[in-house]
Order: sequence, then structure tokens, then C-alpha cells
Amino acid sequence: MGKPKIATTSLAGCFGCHMSLLDIDDRILELVELVEFDKSPINDIKEFTGECAVGLIEGGCANEENVRVLRDFRKHCKVLIAVGDCAIMGGIPAMRNNIPLAECLDEAYRNGPSVYNPGGTVPNDPDLPLLLDRVYTCNEVVKIDYFLPGCPPPADTLWQALVALLNDKPVDLPYELVKYD
Ligand code: SF4
Repeated sequence: MGKPKIATTSLAGCFGCHMSLLDIDDRILELVELVEFDKSPINDIKEFTGECAVGLIEGGCANEENVRVLRDFRKHCKVLIAVGDCAIMGGIPAMRNNIPLAECLDEAYRNGPSVYNPGGTVPNDPDLPLLLDRVYTCNEVVKIDYFLPGCPPPADTLWQALVALLNDKPVDLPYELVKYD
């Protein structure tokens, strides 16, 4: 039997949670022994090649492409983990949630203090994913099995959770590894 596969993605995130995963340092060699990476920005595989044991989601859903990717992860991953505050609560991108979308676009492309846009056009290329009315947390869109808070969660948190799941053990993290900052 082959190694279990894991997949990762960044939706409306900053890649800081992925950086934290790489912060497991030389344990990355152990991780490579334990798993194979499927779809992930780490190996640049763009589409799933099969079923995965674990999917790690960074960031919430700010546009329709984020929703499509998240649903695809739910379909292909036995266990789905919301990694970090953006995936769990929306994070910084969700600061727009109390402001109407039209007002956000006006500020970004027409009236912001550093904007120069004499035509007043808002980018509308059909290849651009449409923004959602607000930022949605991952569990508002699909069922999430585990939540690892932090901005980003510490590397040790990610490592211990992954090792437990890959060995069919309960994810029982010590208090100091579950933090919200
Ligand atoms: S939780 Fe923090 S580190 Fe992770 S994507 Fe959001 S802002 Fe970046």
C-alpha cells in the first residue's frame, strides 16, 4: 500500500500558515517519509490526482474560486483541517464584512487616497474570480473536521496534529499549542 496523501491550499490567506508548516524544519524529512503531497502550492500540483487522507486549508472564502477549491478539497480529503485564523474566522480579509462590497471596490479602485484611475474602471476581466458579498469562514461552506487556530498556528501544532491523524490517533494537543495569536 502507498503512503497516505495530504493536500494543502491557500484561499484568502497570506501563505503564512504554509510558512509555518515549513517551519517544522528537518522534520520535513520525516513528513516526506510519512506522506506523499498531492495538490499543494508546496509542489505546485494544481489538481487532485486521487483521494487524500488529510487536507489543510489556509484562508477563508472571499471569491467564487475559493469556494470551488474548498468544495473540491472536501470531496477529495477524508479529513479536512481549517488551519489558522483566516480559515476559522475570516481573519484580516473579513474586515470588509461590515462594509458593502460596492463601497469596498470604490475605495480600492476609485476613491482610495493612493488610487490613480481616471477612467474609474473596476477590474472586470472574465478570468477574474467574482468576489463574494462577504468573506465566509471555511465551516460556513463545507464541513470542517478540525480547527487549528493561530496566526499562524505554530509549526509544532501542525506537526503534532498531522502525525496524530496519520497514525489514527486522537488529536490531543497540549494547551500551549492551541493559541489564538
Ligand atoms: S491565519 Fe495569519 S498566517 Fe495564516 S493566512 Fe491568515 S493572516 Fe496569514
